[in-house]
Amino acid sequence: MTVTDWAPPTERLAQVRAFMDERVLPNEPILDREDETADALVADLRDEVRALGLWAPHVPPEAGGTGTGFLDYAYLNEHIGRSLWGQLVFGCQAPDAGNAEILHLFGSDEQKDRWLRPLVAGEIRSFFSMTEPEVPGSDPTTLRTRALRDGDDWVIDGHKWFSSGAEGAAFGIVMAVTDPDAPPHARATQIIVPVDTPGVEIVRPVPVLGHAGRGWTTHCEVRYTDVRVPAGNTLGGEGSGFMIAQKRLGPGRIHHVMRWLGQMERAFALMCTYALEREAFGGRLSEKQTVQNWIADSYAQIQACRLLTLDAAHKIDGGDEARVEISAIKFFAAQALQDVIDRAVQVHGARGLTDETPLGHMLTAARAGRIYDGPDEVHRMVVARRVLKSFANGDGWDFR
Ligand SMILES: Cc1cc2nc3c(=O)[nH]c(=O)nc-3n(C[C@H](O)[C@H](O)[C@H](O)COP(=O)(O)OP(=O)(O)OC[C@H]3O[C@@H](n4cnc5c(N)ncnc54)[C@H](O)[C@@H]3O)c2cc1C
Repeated sequence: MTVTDWAPPTERLAQVRAFMDERVLPNEPILDREDETADALVADLRDEVRALGLWAPHVPPEAGGTGTGFLDYAYLNEHIGRSLWGQLVFGCQAPDAGNAEILHLFGSDEQKDRWLRPLVAGEIRSFFSMTEPEVPGSDPTTLRTRALRDGDDWVIDGHKWFSSGAEGAAFGIVMAVTDPDAPPHARATQIIVPVDTPGVEIVRPVPVLGHAGRGWTTHCEVRYTDVRVPAGNTLGGEGSGFMIAQKRLGPGRIHHVMRWLGQMERAFALMCTYALEREAFGGRLSEKQTVQNWIADSYAQIQACRLLTLDAAHKIDGGDEARVEISAIKFFAAQALQDVIDRAVQVHGARGLTDETPLGHMLTAARAGRIYDGPDEVHRMVVARRVLKSFANGDGWDFR
């Protein structure tokens, strides 16, 4: 099958695009304030999205969303991602989207009723608590947070950070070591922890590039001290933490990339428009070859990212885990995102750093993309190892 056969969901795409143009982008200055007025506006915009039948496009109707597969979601997210607020307005924000997917796939009926339904409905938020300050997040087999069985309960002790969105969330999914003697990838379990459980302490939002955030935009340090939750809060089976994390992070990584396409395309449009307007040294910036090179390089990077993303989404819809495709697009697009936005800032000169354009915010947010959900270096390692293994087995590599 070729890319041209991968038809976009035309009608919904037009609706999403129009909503982003008319309701989200013009309201960004208010949303960026991250105050109570912004919260009220988010609530209103979410109601409008629900009324249009576009809510929660990442999960299928049986999980409370309007999703129709990965490929369709890739196309929609390209537009939702144009604003950093789009995902929150459409009810498909990280990390809730990933948590909803694993609750949908691995949750018990009781867990789905108690956590998944209100999460997808947008009534509560959640966080995913895996990374720890003391050990490398790139190698989570080194995690130290422990959960010990005591009768019908788990008792959890540990220290996490970068638990995104923990401030104001109702529950977290905590990755804890439950059997330190098991093989490395069978040692950990994911456990649902309500935030109001005694012993859960949201220590502080950790400022990231000078931004502490508020509520959904925080990345929190969290301590768990003698946190007792029922064993029924185990997500999937005991020891299946890494398997579920892989199920969560694989699709989650490509969700990020889909949104980054929107960010790149927006930066590209701003760069081209400004280059055609601004004059220096007797001619427009668009006539300078350096600027033309930036535009050409950005075009090629964006289009390559689009095609890699659609290819991975198409394979996932076909039941493929697409591990190589996902890792390749994660590191390739994270760098492209940073490059394209940075060039757009440069073309705008000092204006690119002000709040007269969204580029400054976009650039700050983009930098983290090369680290979260696995740093570039780890994804390169995954791609190379898998490709080399295939060659070592005598299979070469099939690019189709
Ligand atoms: C904005 C943001 C949001 C995040 N949200 C969450 C969240 O919600 N939940 C959560 O649990 N975590 C979250 N994280 C944490 C993130 O997943 C980790 O930061 C990431 O996995 C890297 O772990 P680390 O920071 O401990 O770096 P380390 O693992 O200590 O790595 C440091 C550096 O070493 C290098 N490196 C590592 N391994 C290799 C290798 N094999 N080869 C070559 N170089 C290597 C890389 O350059 C890497 O950047 C978030 C991070 C950010 C920045």
